[in-house]
Amino acid sequence: MNQRPYNFAAGPSALPEAVLQKVQSELFNWRHTGMSAMEIGHRTVPFESLLNEVTFRLRKLMQIPANYQLLFLAGGAQVQFAMLPMNLLGKDQTAAYVDSGTWSHKAYEEAQKYGSVHVAIKVPSTRLLRIPPVDEWVIPDDAAYLYYADNETIEGLEFHTVPDVGDIPLVCDMTSNILSRHVDVSRFGVIFASTQKSLGISGLTLVIIRDDLFGRASEMVPAVFDYALQAKNQSLVNTPPTFAIYMMNVMCEWVESQGGVTAFESLSLRKSSKLYTLIDQSPCYTNHVDPAFRSRMNVIFKLVDERLDKDFLAQAESRGLINLKGHRSVGGMRASMYNAVSEHAVDVLAAFMQDFATQHA
Ligand SMILES: *Cc1c(COP(=O)(O)O)cnc(C)c1O
Repeated sequence: MNQRPYNFAAGPSALPEAVLQKVQSELFNWRHTGMSAMEIGHRTVPFESLLNEVTFRLRKLMQIPANYQLLFLAGGAQVQFAMLPMNLLGKDQTAAYVDSGTWSHKAYEEAQKYGSVHVAIKVPSTRLLRIPPVDEWVIPDDAAYLYYADNETIEGLEFHTVPDVGDIPLVCDMTSNILSRHVDVSRFGVIFASTQKSLGISGLTLVIIRDDLFGRASEMVPAVFDYALQAKNQSLVNTPPTFAIYMMNVMCEWVESQGGVTAFESLSLRKSSKLYTLIDQSPCYTNHVDPAFRSRMNVIFKLVDERLDKDFLAQAESRGLINLKGHRSVGGMRASMYNAVSEHAVDVLAAFMQDFATQHA
């Protein structure tokens, strides 16, 4: 096989070679069924045991307490932007949203269709992006929940502590940093993540929900979007994305084999520090996030001379470094480095960035 490229895509993202090999080896005969996991009914014994297995792995990896349910729901994270208010926001209630960037802003806009929503804080567009401290946020005492995105994938802005908002249920989008560090799940009402970044492939969203939050849904909620009904039916109200669930199980097994969340926590710090150190020391690159809020997953940077952007991307590609172009809304460059992106890939990228800077010094 030709050498695989170093893929820094924001999502869908690189998968570990070992995972692809395992999937390939099981494609024609998964667990003695004589079939692939794609061809198995969702109400069969092998699929049921797969669901139990992946639930068990996630519970263990994330140390999820017993009073939380795991749901495996079709569609991506943005489906949850609608499902959350449908299920958690009562008629006369208000939900508070932290508007810290593109993804949380979208969630806020979507929620407006379903009830009363309120911006607790908007990250100011200062030269250095930072999240204001919780005591500057405005949260109604009776808020149904407080929503935030743990890692803003497009801006490269990450929370490094869980905000303390008392008894108000915290709802958190962890799509782009799940399994990359220890999280005290008991601090949250709901955690959700679509799976195409760190948990496998697209089409599926993992929802972790505290069981006292069931039963708040409006009567109009469609059956397949009803958290309580999905929980009661082991996420099988409708046919779930079975292959994506299979992929998530293989990914979780791989995460375990690498040392679990602890290993990826230190790996993510090493990988991102290498790039931020280089960016800060080089006159060729800039980053616009306060170091206290920089993302370990998505390193956003600009070339000081933007006329060199095209050349940078072309030279990177010739070294096998691909998908470094920044999101169209912010420009510049973005290196997305979820769990499957190895430290070696980041070393190759850092060496290239150093060479490129020397070339243009
Ligand atoms: C990628 C991403 C999304 C979008 O998810 P879809 O699965 O495409 O709907 C939402 N939130 C965050 C934080 C993301 O990184």
